[in-house]
Amino acid sequence: TMKSLWRIVQFTRELWPYYVGVAAFSVLVAATTQVQPLLTKTIVDEVTKLVGSHEVRTNVVIWAVLGIFVADLGQNLFSNIGGIIGDQLQARLRKTLSERYFAHLLKLPQRYFDTELSGKVLNQLNRSIDQITTFAQAFSNNFLQFIFSTVLSLVIISLYSWPVALMLATLYPIFIWLTMRTSGKWREYQTDINQQADAATGRFAEAIGQVKVVKSFGQERRELTHFQRRYQRMIELTWPQSKLWHGQDFKRKLVLNVIFLAVYGYICLEAVNGRYGLGTMVLLLQYAALIRMPIFSISFIVDQSQRAVANTRDYFAAMDEATESSATEHGGTLDVTRGQVKFTEVVFGYEVKQPVLRGLSFTLEPGTKTALVGESGEGKTTITNLLLGLYVPQNGSIAIDGQDISQVSRASLRAASSVVFQEPALFSGTIYENIAYGRPDASKAEVEAAARAANAHEFIAKFEKGYKAEIGERGLKLSGGQKQRIAIARALLKDAPILILDEATSSLDSKSEHLVQEALERLMKGRTTLIIAHRLSTIQSVDTIITLKNGRLEEQGSPDELAQTSGIYAELLKLQQGHTTSAAKRLKRYELQA
Ligand code: ADP
Ligand code: MG
Repeated sequence: TMKSLWRIVQFTRELWPYYVGVAAFSVLVAATTQVQPLLTKTIVDEVTKLVGSHEVRTNVVIWAVLGIFVADLGQNLFSNIGGIIGDQLQARLRKTLSERYFAHLLKLPQRYFDTELSGKVLNQLNRSIDQITTFAQAFSNNFLQFIFSTVLSLVIISLYSWPVALMLATLYPIFIWLTMRTSGKWREYQTDINQQADAATGRFAEAIGQVKVVKSFGQERRELTHFQRRYQRMIELTWPQSKLWHGQDFKRKLVLNVIFLAVYGYICLEAVNGRYGLGTMVLLLQYAALIRMPIFSISFIVDQSQRAVANTRDYFAAMDEATESSATEHGGTLDVTRGQVKFTEVVFGYEVKQPVLRGLSFTLEPGTKTALVGESGEGKTTITNLLLGLYVPQNGSIAIDGQDISQVSRASLRAASSVVFQEPALFSGTIYENIAYGRPDASKAEVEAAARAANAHEFIAKFEKGYKAEIGERGLKLSGGQKQRIAIARALLKDAPILILDEATSSLDSKSEHLVQEALERLMKGRTTLIIAHRLSTIQSVDTIITLKNGRLEEQGSPDELAQTSGIYAELLKLQQGHTTSAAKRLKRYELQA
């Protein structure tokens, strides 16, 4: 745990001037607080001279009172200046922690996001930020102040009474030891609680993100019940955790109470026996009271550091995930000249034990259109994932214009291809922003030209706000065909030499499909295109067809060539002509329509 703690401190060390600032002002506050008992003693000593009918030096009393006022004023001022620095520290910590997390997540491989819920990832961030800022504040506010106040108080007390100083000094090790003892079991409970919270938030975000599905299946109640159950479990876990913590807290404060009983008893006894004056007694009582504060602050630091370790575990686990660029950090830049794509004996499975591609080889010739045909789940989308470098083959190689894509930077690899996904996946914001997503510096004319080529300009122009129309989260305010045409415009504007169309028209009705198809034809011109199509007509118009079977290439050839063989394509053609129900069924397995 010391190591985890050190990591948190290291992680934010660039903010050290703020830590020092907060610490310095908290010491000033402590110093002004320490002055008060000394001045109170002076006042009491002066005033008690009355009892012995001695002359009281009124000016000393007045100066002491004014001194207390000045000390109070200083305390007020210093604590607020420290507060300003503390706010800055907190805001900057937030920025640093969130920024690094986001930057790191964006670099993580696709695989990470296959298993992690986005809501969970967010919840981890928020929890860690809250905890680290609390810890950093607690630490900088209390640590120096603790050392300063303790040493100063103990020294002053020992000047008047070393037994009292000694009794108080024993408190620290006992108190810290008792605080640390709570931690192990407490952390276990906390880890459980955090897991519940993450799971609940993860599902929450998912349900809200797809609220239409939740509603249409009438599952609002069940989603809520799941959510409630997680929080119920958190309540159940909080009970033993809280009992544990407060049980321990009671014990350590009991030790404190007993020692203070001894301290007060001793001070009063000595005073009654005439060994101190009234002023000294008041001074000792006040310092004894003052010293409680640093005891609490040190145990607060210990306590907060336990919490920080427990609550930032997931954050740092995510930060420890290897980024995808770590493999290709020293990679060169992919230089696309012709746009030839070559798969050689590619073996890949999302799980190593379940290969999807089992030694697949094919070549996409520059500037040609190739259709990929294979049953659903055969690995068509997987091929596009590999080509984009989202996953890495376990064996074999993929080359673009003779350069192995595993050896080049991810950025240059992804700049080589435009993809139109089956799900258009737009962002909230305006239509303009969405089309220009891949090239934010594109001119207005370029954006509009892309929209025209994508058959999107016409419908965009009908919106009251035109290109400035907001389309809602993931483009929810648009129809499927509209979304798809914006996605095509986006791909057009990117103007990459390789084009991948993964079932780009499968969710469309025939009218919008016609418009989209037209747009796609324009998009494909002069590019190496890989089409995963669901319409036989689309497949018939390509240069080359590749059919997949059991993770390998089954056939490759022009539509005319393959029509003469006995392969899947020929069979599909026959089935289409037969128009029987069983034919339609067979076509469906290939995600194909006539
Ligand atoms: P399709 O040819 O229909 O596009 P895919 O390439 O999407 O098929 O999927 C191929 C196989 O890989 C399927 O069996 C699918 O279940 C599996 N698969 C796809 N994506 C993932 C993933 N992210 N994690 C694990 N398995 C996956
Ligand atoms: Mg697919």
